[in-house]
Amino acid sequence: MINSLNLSDTATGYRYKSNTELKFTYWMYRILQSKRMANALIFCTRIILKYNLPFQYLIKKTVFNVFCAGENIDDAFKKIMFLNEFKVKSVLDYVSEGENDDRSFDKNAKIIVSNIVRLGKESPGNYVSVKLSGLENPGFLTYCNGLEFLNDLIISPRFDRLMARVDLICKSARDSNVIVFIDAEDRCMQDLFDRITETMMEKYNSNHAVVFNTLQMYLKDRLPYVRRLIDLAEKQQYVPGIKLVRGAYVEKERELARKEGRESPVFDTKKETDDAFNEAVELCLRSHNFVDTCIATHNRESTLHAVACIKKYRIENHFNKVRFSQLYGMSDCLTFNLCLNGYNSSKYLPYGEVKKAIPYLIRRSEENSSIDGQIVNEANFLKDELERRAGKQEL
Ligand SMILES: Cc1cc2nc3c(=O)[nH]c(=O)nc-3n(C[C@H](O)[C@H](O)[C@H](O)COP(=O)(O)OP(=O)(O)OC[C@H]3O[C@@H](n4cnc5c(N)ncnc54)[C@H](O)[C@@H]3O)c2cc1C
Repeated sequence: MINSLNLSDTATGYRYKSNTELKFTYWMYRILQSKRMANALIFCTRIILKYNLPFQYLIKKTVFNVFCAGENIDDAFKKIMFLNEFKVKSVLDYVSEGENDDRSFDKNAKIIVSNIVRLGKESPGNYVSVKLSGLENPGFLTYCNGLEFLNDLIISPRFDRLMARVDLICKSARDSNVIVFIDAEDRCMQDLFDRITETMMEKYNSNHAVVFNTLQMYLKDRLPYVRRLIDLAEKQQYVPGIKLVRGAYVEKERELARKEGRESPVFDTKKETDDAFNEAVELCLRSHNFVDTCIATHNRESTLHAVACIKKYRIENHFNKVRFSQLYGMSDCLTFNLCLNGYNSSKYLPYGEVKKAIPYLIRRSEENSSIDGQIVNEANFLKDELERRAGKQEL
């Protein structure tokens, strides 16, 4: 299969886009890939957010349109059904960044549960993702991160409420046969996220992984953690769900470490991150008999490396053991070509109010203007496809 897999086939990659959508996406990428334009866009977006200026319509019609599935669940379901027609699965992500009170956290948990139930009934085979910072305040999560999980936290009513929300989501996922990915966020909360996710995995991942933890491989401590998690799961006899990403907060982590006068938790070079990511892929796929893996990346080399590992370790039932995923609006050539060749791949599909999606959109804009990322090729692919459709050489 690896021989026929062409991750640059733009006809397959963009077959779900009309000519107008393709042109629009191409011009958005042209803007984002200019560092100056992207910085100007990010600056304006921050100002709009800070002063609550009435320009959200502009954001909705531009970056939001490219990277998000819509403002409400019905919009998102339409996208899910549409992508499913091309064998592409979806990871439904209710965007709720920046909320601060118990009522909002309970409401967010309820919305996620109702999405899970609806997915289970109307659209089986798709997934949800959850940001724990949408279920509790990041300040409290950071505080808990420094405490002993079993000894100190177990007696905190506020922590109990958080665990009840997470448990409700994971239990609904198990009952509705929907997989749930717990996203990784700032390093200062990750030890807590690891313990919470391990607890849920032990409870719900008996035959296959219902709950996945996300590991940011730009972190220096994650390779040893992959090994530890696999050992722990083997001992406690559950199937660990491991979603591998490189990590979306490089500058934020470095800046915080600088301010606090400690070593950065993030590798100093992209190559070290790439090596750690690829080694983690190898470790997980080598243990495919008792590990379920999600390779969440736009990086072609890592994707081909994973495909090669599937062959090397003869993972015959790879569709249910190894999942690939890319963000909506990015790397369509990877997603659609993987699916066409029998691999399990999905789009990470955020939806919600434009205002709440802004931090997510800023991360995407920063990523797309970074010269370190492979996604800078996106505009070239879009241009190739426009030219192919027009049957000419020049746009
Ligand atoms: C489906 C999906 C789900 C995701 N979920 C999460 C999540 O839960 N949490 C999260 O944090 N991110 C998440 N991400 C984003 C992810 O972490 C990356 O930011 C993004 O995918 C870009 O990395 P890449 O592997 O696609 O490829 P590339 O474009 O090859 O790599 C870019 C990445 O390399 C790393 N990098 C770049 N320069 C350096 C450097 N100088 N030193 C060290 N490292 C460097 C950074 O992590 C950067 O984002 C998700 C991505 C996808 C596709």
